Amino acid sequence: MRLNTLAFCTAMGSVLALATPPAMAQAPETPAGREALTVLQEAVAIPTVQGRGQVPVLAAKLKARLLDAGFAEDEVTFVPQGETGYLLARYPGRDRKAPVTAIIAHMDVVEAKPEDWERDPFNPVIEDGYLFGRGSLDNKAGLSIVTATMMKLRREGWVPAHDIVLGFSGDEETQMATTAAMASAIVQEAGKVDLVLNADSGGGTLDEAGQPFVYEVQAGEKTYADYKLTLTDPGGHSSRPGATNAIAAMSAAMEKIWAYKFPVTVSPLTKAYFESSVAAAPAEVAPAMRALIADPTDAKAAATLSARPEYIGLIRTTCVPTMIEGGHAPNALPQSVSANVNCRIFPGTSRAKVQETLAQVIADPEITCAFQDNGTLESIESPLRSDVLKAVEVAVHERAPGLSIVPGMSAGATDSMHFRSKGIPAFGVSAVFMEPKDEFAHGLNERLPLATLDPAVKQWETLLRTLLK
Ligand SMILES: [Zn+2]
Repeated sequence: MRLNTLAFCTAMGSVLALATPPAMAQAPETPAGREALTVLQEAVAIPTVQGRGQVPVLAAKLKARLLDAGFAEDEVTFVPQGETGYLLARYPGRDRKAPVTAIIAHMDVVEAKPEDWERDPFNPVIEDGYLFGRGSLDNKAGLSIVTATMMKLRREGWVPAHDIVLGFSGDEETQMATTAAMASAIVQEAGKVDLVLNADSGGGTLDEAGQPFVYEVQAGEKTYADYKLTLTDPGGHSSRPGATNAIAAMSAAMEKIWAYKFPVTVSPLTKAYFESSVAAAPAEVAPAMRALIADPTDAKAAATLSARPEYIGLIRTTCVPTMIEGGHAPNALPQSVSANVNCRIFPGTSRAKVQETLAQVIADPEITCAFQDNGTLESIESPLRSDVLKAVEVAVHERAPGLSIVPGMSAGATDSMHFRSKGIPAFGVSAVFMEPKDEFAHGLNERLPLATLDPAVKQWETLLRTLLK
């Protein structure tokens, strides 16, 4: 995934006057930008969808390119895992024993059905200043930009302060089993990982005039959780209703969950986000943001923000009924009803705690509540590190002077969670800048504006040269 962030939702709607970038519909001109495009076209042409066994094919192409740029054979390793796998590449630094910096991206993509697309999703086509194709954005853009940057730096003979480990996973969009294995392998081999930079989240938003509007550093993700609620009843003939009805009882439980508001949480990340974005926030919500920064217990301010779908997730855990199923005949009392409640849990709160709260809110001992394990982990926020934010600022301001940089939290999960859960700070620092209207990750006709490639490679280069000088 890439954008899909809570922070971004709030950033639309007004225009900031900033330095004018070049027209937004052009092919890359720098050698590294052109190389990023070549790698991207090659990657999009390989359908790395789950089950097709193509991730090793892409990994082999990436490895060949890295070797060509000066990486040694034993520095680049593909580790197969079933039909997929992950690629690791080690870039040696001056202090070989110091904790490493990991740079991650993913090689797999979400399925795309050619009959639904206007163009073949796995034939990368350039049109109107865009590259079209599945993965052109998520996450083969990040993958290609990072690869081209590392190739450039290696060819130039740059030596970072300490080792960099590139880690490209092979099932981020599905099980994240390669991510889990990759995170463990990096930690085991390196001894200590100081920092993770993820090319698959964060990034820049352009306004309708194609001008940079805001840049987000992703520092946290909400925990995803589904709970299945079930209620059974003896049932019977509908002409002879008794004291209980499973559908009515489950409906009452759903009403209670819908009405319940989890406590307001103002974490360091929320606070930093409000502080850096309040100046550009809509006039109706800016005072509430200021009030919550000053006093996280301000109920009126919390109510104002909670009334808006784009803000509620920033300050609370949310749980909503999403599916319900029950009954078996029009003329029978229902014997069984089940419902799904989907929660987006604030980092730092456990799924068990939320389950407990749901049970208390429902207050019906007949209804069972079961957590549905989908393999995701409980999220924690990365503490905002000043050296990282400073280096991001230097790199972003080089292409967009004065642009506001906000720390943000995603509503969904990325590979970063497998590092954060090991206590390693991870930050989403995608260098792709695009308009929200161009955002089709996971969707039809996914595309990348080509004009973002030159400055994106430069952004990664400056970020690394600043952070690891
Ligand atoms: Zn992704």
